Amino acid sequence: MKTVYNFSAGPAVLPKSVLEKAQSELVDYENSGMSVMELSHRSSLFETIIENAETLLRELMAIPDNYKVLFLQGGASMQFTMVPLNLAQHKTALYVNTGSWSKKAISEAKKIENVTVEVIASSEDKNFTYIPEIRKEDIPQDAAYVHITTNNTIEGTTIYDLPDTGDVPIVADMSSNILSVNYNVADFGLIYAGAQKNIGPAGLTVVIVREDLIGQVDVLSAMLDYDVHAKNGSMYNTPPTYSIYMAKLVFEWIKEQGGVSQMEQQNKEKAALLYDEIDSSKLFSSPVNKKDRSINNVPFITGDDQLDKQFNQEALAAGFENLKGHRSVGGMRASLYNAFPKTGVEALITFMKSFEAENGG
Ligand code: PLP
Repeated sequence: MKTVYNFSAGPAVLPKSVLEKAQSELVDYENSGMSVMELSHRSSLFETIIENAETLLRELMAIPDNYKVLFLQGGASMQFTMVPLNLAQHKTALYVNTGSWSKKAISEAKKIENVTVEVIASSEDKNFTYIPEIRKEDIPQDAAYVHITTNNTIEGTTIYDLPDTGDVPIVADMSSNILSVNYNVADFGLIYAGAQKNIGPAGLTVVIVREDLIGQVDVLSAMLDYDVHAKNGSMYNTPPTYSIYMAKLVFEWIKEQGGVSQMEQQNKEKAALLYDEIDSSKLFSSPVNKKDRSINNVPFITGDDQLDKQFNQEALAAGFENLKGHRSVGGMRASLYNAFPKTGVEALITFMKSFEAENGG
């Protein structure tokens, strides 16, 4: 098999041992004579899988008992609508605008008739290269929530210290750093994440929501209603069974590795190696404010579009997949999620050094 380093921002690299385990169970799951993909979601075998997935996630993130864990579909993008629909009808929803995904969350919330949307902080003035100050005095205490994006996948910034929002719950799009940075779930009212970065294959969306925040709306389409999903144990309709099974294997793997703090430690080490190289290089630079830099998505540039293009072409030929920066930012972006190996960062650094030696700096 060809060896590559996959720097994709998502769908992203999965632990090899997880893929191998899935392969070994693909055709015949636990002597059932069936694949997990073929099991009824009402079967006891699948019920055990989804229960274990939830138990493991609760353990890994220390999720308090008064939070529901929902395994949904529709991606994080569906949550841009479900969150305001469930939590903010006839109320004001506050948003922090820190990048392309925040912008989408804001624009979807604005489409809901009964919801008033206010942006209380933004870093759009500087191309989202920093995290803006979020001031408590800008947060009316009767607001439904303050929405933040904990990790801005495209721009490479992270909110490490949560704002003081008083009694207003924080809602977080944690798609690109869930299980990778160790947040305290009790500090949030709701957390959502598409699975395809640190959890498993695309097709699954995890929502962790404080119980008192659900069931506020009398009439909602069932599929958009957290209350319906919670009351049906995420099985109101057919859940994404295989993605949930894969997520369970990834949760087991994270537990074996030592849990989320260990993941965070390793991610910090991997990112520090790359940022050190970028900061000491004369050719490459980081567009992001130092203290707000993401340990999961590391954008870097040469400042010359042609040279960036050449770097991306040569890197691809050398086995570094998906390094090209997002089309809205350009340059390069190395996504370093939990399953990305340190050896991949070391190999990239060696490659960057030789590219710099050949192309000036
Ligand atoms: N939010 C963030 C922070 C993301 O990184 C992404 C995808 O990359 C999304 C939302 C959209 O997720 P999905 O494709 O699951 O809708």
